[in-house]
Amino acid sequence: MIVVAWCLAGLFGGALGSFAGVVASRGWQKALRGRSHCDVCGRELEWFELVPLLSFIALRGRCRTCGSPVAWRVYGWEVAGAALGLCVAIPLTLTALR
Ligand SMILES: [Zn+2]
Repeated sequence: MIVVAWCLAGLFGGALGSFAGVVASRGWQKALRGRSHCDVCGRELEWFELVPLLSFIALRGRCRTCGSPVAWRVYGWEVAGAALGLCVAIPLTLTALR
C-alpha cells in the first residue's frame, strides 16, 4: 500500500513538474490555453501521452505521428517533479507509520 502511495506521489510530482516546464517555456498565458501538442507537427497529444515518464518509455521519446524526438528538457522537468514528489511523500508516510 505504501508503495502505491509513493508511485502516486511520483506521478503527481511528475505532472506538476511537466506543467512547470510548460510554464517555463511558453509562459503562463499560453500554458493555460489549449492542449499539449507536438512542437514539430502540432498534433494535440492524447491523454496517455501526457502521463509523466511512462509516456517516454511507451513512445521511446518520440512523437507518435511525425517521429521527431521530444526535447530532453521535457523529461528533465518530469524527473525533477517526480523526485520532489517522492522527497515529500516518503518522509511523510514513514513518519505517519511510527
Ligand atoms: Zn509530431
